Amino acid sequence: MPYAIAAIVILALVVAFWPVALAALIVFLAVKFVPPIVRNIRKNKYFASDEFLAMKAEAALIVAEHNEVAAYASEIRERGSFRLGASSTGALAHLATFDNTSHHNYRRDRNVASYGNANVHNCSLQVVRNASSDPLKYLMKYFDIRADESSLSDAERLGDEIAQLDGAVDNLRQREYSITASINPPDFIVKYFLKEFMEQVGVVLSPIEVPYPVYAFEYVSAGGNSSQRTTITLNTETVDELIETLSAKIRFKKSAAGQRSLMTAKLRTSIKARDSYTCRYCSVSLSAEPHLLLEVDHIVPVSKMGQSTPENLQTLCWRCNRTKSNKLLSD
Ligand SMILES: [Zn+2]
Repeated sequence: MPYAIAAIVILALVVAFWPVALAALIVFLAVKFVPPIVRNIRKNKYFASDEFLAMKAEAALIVAEHNEVAAYASEIRERGSFRLGASSTGALAHLATFDNTSHHNYRRDRNVASYGNANVHNCSLQVVRNASSDPLKYLMKYFDIRADESSLSDAERLGDEIAQLDGAVDNLRQREYSITASINPPDFIVKYFLKEFMEQVGVVLSPIEVPYPVYAFEYVSAGGNSSQRTTITLNTETVDELIETLSAKIRFKKSAAGQRSLMTAKLRTSIKARDSYTCRYCSVSLSAEPHLLLEVDHIVPVSKMGQSTPENLQTLCWRCNRTKSNKLLSD
């Protein structure tokens, strides 16, 4: 009822003061709709201007190169697995159907355990809480990541995949920023039409995000009334910690192992510095090409028993590394 009363009051006010109401409506519409229309006209004028077209022609080369890197990033995304261990709780869950047949009055779809998902471990509240204070220990224990050489090289492979795609995506952002800076469009274009600006310039915006594996510990109460979750995202920082932890455990078990270098962000950075940020194949360097995407490559590939030792690692530019990977794939 209060709504009906409010509506009657507003209606009465409008009838009593209609010229004021009409003026208010006109002002409201003008403020809301006129600026976007004006902006649109200015934008079309800018994109058709000689100034913009000249800058666009000048930027054609860097745009073309950006688009090549974008295509390369999607190749890396396609090629990588971006996966590690899995939880076995619910591995056979597809063999059964789950119904909540309790006669409570609350919504039953609120908290439904995700039994079928290998990246979710269903467990007690205690385990969810412990996992949040000691994530790596619980990750290894419940997702079956054993402290052995094979898990360690899996983690290193995942770290490599993430680093490579992270590097490419980050490189694309830098290039987009520098394309915008070199054409230097008016502020209102950057503020309201950045996406259209990129399209007009010819930049293929790649919507690639790095698919960091996410692991969760989940507790769902019997009635589905409450649930709690601890989530672990395997980004470079977490993967590197996992690699260090696995290596320390292996070393503890068998002192000969773990003497080799670990493939972490720290090692990748040191290899690039050792090679003076220069591609070992074509000699292009970061000082010559500021947006050069450099990668760390295994000279003898891991798939052919190559080790992650400094002697077996080299800095390559993305072009040379792409050619090398494609060659290996077709071998
Ligand atoms: Zn090169």
